[in-house]
Amino acid sequence: MTTPMMLQYQSIKEQVPDSILFFRLGDFYEMFGEDALTAAPILEIALTGRETGGGERTPMCGVPYHAVENYLTKLVSAGYKVAICEQVEDPQLAKGIVRREIIRIISPGTLTESIADRMNNFLASIFHETNWGLAFLDVSTGEFTIFECSSLDIILTELSRIHPSELLLPPDLVRLKHWRGYFITTQDRKNYLDTSEIYKRFEKQKAILDESPASAKAANALWHYLEETLPGNELTHILEIKTYHPDQWMILDQWTRRNLELTEPLRGQGKKGTLLSVLDLTKTAFGGRLLRRWIEQPLILKAKIEHRLQIVEDLTEDSFLRGDLLQSLTGIYDLERLMGKVSFGTAHARDLLALKQTLSSLPNIRAAIEASHSKSLKSYIDPLTGLDELFTLLDSAINPEAPLSLREGNLLKPGYSPEVDELRTTSSGGKDWVAKLEAQEKERTGIRSLKVGFNKVFGYYIEVTHTNSHLVPKEYIRKQTLANAERFITPELKEYEQKILGAEDKLIQMEYQLFLELRETVRRNTPRIMDAAHALAEIDCYLSFAEVAIRHHYVRPEMTEKGKLQIIEGRHPVVENMLEEGTFVPNDTLLTSSKHLALITGPNMAGKSTYMRQVALIVLMAQIGSFVPAEKASIALVDNIFTRVGASDDLASGQSTFMVEMREVAYILHHLTDHSLVILDEVGRGTATFDGLSIAWAVTEFLASQNVKPKTLFATHYHELTALEESFPGIFNLHVGVREHGEDIVFLHKIISGRADRSYGIQVAKLAGLPAPLLKRAKVILHELENSSLLKEDSFRPETSTQLTLFEAPVLHPLLQEISDIDFDNLTPRQALEYLYDLRERI
Ligand code: ADP
Repeated sequence: MTTPMMLQYQSIKEQVPDSILFFRLGDFYEMFGEDALTAAPILEIALTGRETGGGERTPMCGVPYHAVENYLTKLVSAGYKVAICEQVEDPQLAKGIVRREIIRIISPGTLTESIADRMNNFLASIFHETNWGLAFLDVSTGEFTIFECSSLDIILTELSRIHPSELLLPPDLVRLKHWRGYFITTQDRKNYLDTSEIYKRFEKQKAILDESPASAKAANALWHYLEETLPGNELTHILEIKTYHPDQWMILDQWTRRNLELTEPLRGQGKKGTLLSVLDLTKTAFGGRLLRRWIEQPLILKAKIEHRLQIVEDLTEDSFLRGDLLQSLTGIYDLERLMGKVSFGTAHARDLLALKQTLSSLPNIRAAIEASHSKSLKSYIDPLTGLDELFTLLDSAINPEAPLSLREGNLLKPGYSPEVDELRTTSSGGKDWVAKLEAQEKERTGIRSLKVGFNKVFGYYIEVTHTNSHLVPKEYIRKQTLANAERFITPELKEYEQKILGAEDKLIQMEYQLFLELRETVRRNTPRIMDAAHALAEIDCYLSFAEVAIRHHYVRPEMTEKGKLQIIEGRHPVVENMLEEGTFVPNDTLLTSSKHLALITGPNMAGKSTYMRQVALIVLMAQIGSFVPAEKASIALVDNIFTRVGASDDLASGQSTFMVEMREVAYILHHLTDHSLVILDEVGRGTATFDGLSIAWAVTEFLASQNVKPKTLFATHYHELTALEESFPGIFNLHVGVREHGEDIVFLHKIISGRADRSYGIQVAKLAGLPAPLLKRAKVILHELENSSLLKEDSFRPETSTQLTLFEAPVLHPLLQEISDIDFDNLTPRQALEYLYDLRERI
């Protein structure tokens, strides 16, 4: 026979077959059966068993309820969902078994505990009909965005930018291979198709939803999922749905983001070695998140860029303003996540104290801006106004020493509520009364060791040692006998006890209620607080840019709609920081519409990659509104940056690297515009020399001969390419300077015009420490090859083609394309068969 509790457990577990169920039993969350077997090793806790009736034992393990956060995070990061089942009635009042319900399901995308401060945690949802629709939401901060476009490529680029920790997909999309590496949750199609939920919750945004039907469906499934995972929660901090168009920002595909190491390093973890690590001196967590987003979404509108640059300039010029703002921003609390907690109903008194402290800085920030000469900053005064009243309320209400728990009292300051004050007097007055009683009874009975004490079982009692028991008055009622004393009560004592304990209970209850009212008042102020948070986040980013500019001697770039890209004495912002001060060699850059393609030659390790990335990063920094590491820069706006690195740098990925490389190059050639910046690093080297050279040659010719003239930097080993300078007016040669020192070479890291005459491979190998006999042998081989080579510069001159048209990739039939996109490894045989039937239908 199964116990009634296990029956309850089983019926709840059936509701959440794909989650690990945390079943609340007293002070623990327990896991049973399969769940316990899965979770125990991950959580590193002991596996035990429980008698479940009929002599059977079920595996079991448990975690204490007050430390649940850590355990949740561990399971979720291990790729599991966790359902939290609570007791939803007071065990003392329950008849029979306590009622239990699932109050929350936690998955990577809905986790709000222990997530990184300075990163968003997005839950995303995708739908495809005529268009592709994407919806994504950070539950912890309330940002909800939809996005619609016609191409899957753009959706994939967006995903690589927002990095969702969970992706909702309808069954027909799950089988595509593009989602590898994402945590996927499949949603019923009907949750997408009937969009009534999303329209109802976001009535005011009907227009936005109407405009983007596919993403409205994605948003609906996402909202439905939230209702499932956070049942009964109104999520009032999610105020609106925003939307955007991809052409609002510079286009950076996933490979470019990776290669430029914007927010994540190519190798390793954290942000070391990234652009973010150099630019982020923000003081607040929401400022940190915004800065990350700015880096990921550079602007393309000149006016917007100038607006940011102007504020940064104003700040760099006014050290008082910087000082004031820095001081006010230090210690500011994460308002976005705080409003999430208010909305979840998990904000406690210390959160509201933190809010109070944050609000107390606002007048100083406003005053600092008002007193400054910066016109552009003035627009931030308004969103930082209007919360003083809330500050006064919180300041008058919340006890600065309030405990974490809301059920212990001591939440409110004296003077805030007369009722609370009165109950406090009664309960503490009661304690005085007890002391008085003790003195009075000592006096009356003559027992000097008489004590009035309290315990949970008997309440107040009078304690008399056995040696004095003959002095105990008749009216004392004996309650308990201990080894050396006896405990008594009197009717008077019990009467007063009622009053004191009653007052204490009432006090706690009343403080709790008043606290909830305060929290509700805070909740009603959500839109204003969010406005303030956004304004503070921006100010924080500007300050960060200004501090970085001063610290590293950056200058304000001059921005133009079109024309040249000119950088005088430019530096690589990250590499410069890693080298000893003053050792980085600055370099100039000039790309114009008539000379738009630079071929860069020079030995390995000379600094080609650093130079090209430096150019891309300087352009990108300018377009996010940051000053740039240079003496002077004039930058024609770029609407997309493409960077590709020759495949052999990326052998680890295990795919056919040359194929990947060529695909990426094809992608670039299809997406070029006059306003593109293209960085090609050793493209073509992923295959045999002749193939590679031929492809690099053809790509260069193509880039130089089209009507569109993307600004391009192409570093190559193939010295033969340098001859192209003579055939195409747009092409010019650069090389990295090297000084020969007898047999050795010294890298100068200086970019000089003209071609490199040698590649110095053997010298570089020597620097790398190859043994001398081996180097000697290599020299002999090189000599022989040079004498017999087909590749002598003079002999390798294929006829130049100036009429290259598109690098057309064969266009596949849509069904064939679909089949090639399917991730067969992740289909069950049954799904594969169903898919075949489905295909036959569509032929
Ligand atoms: P390449 O692409 O030519 O093989 P890299 O750009 O990878 O060379 O540069 C190799 C190393 O040289 C870098 O890691 C850096 O330490 C150093 N370096 C590159 N450019 C400079 C520079 N301008 N000033 C000082 N050191 C540099």
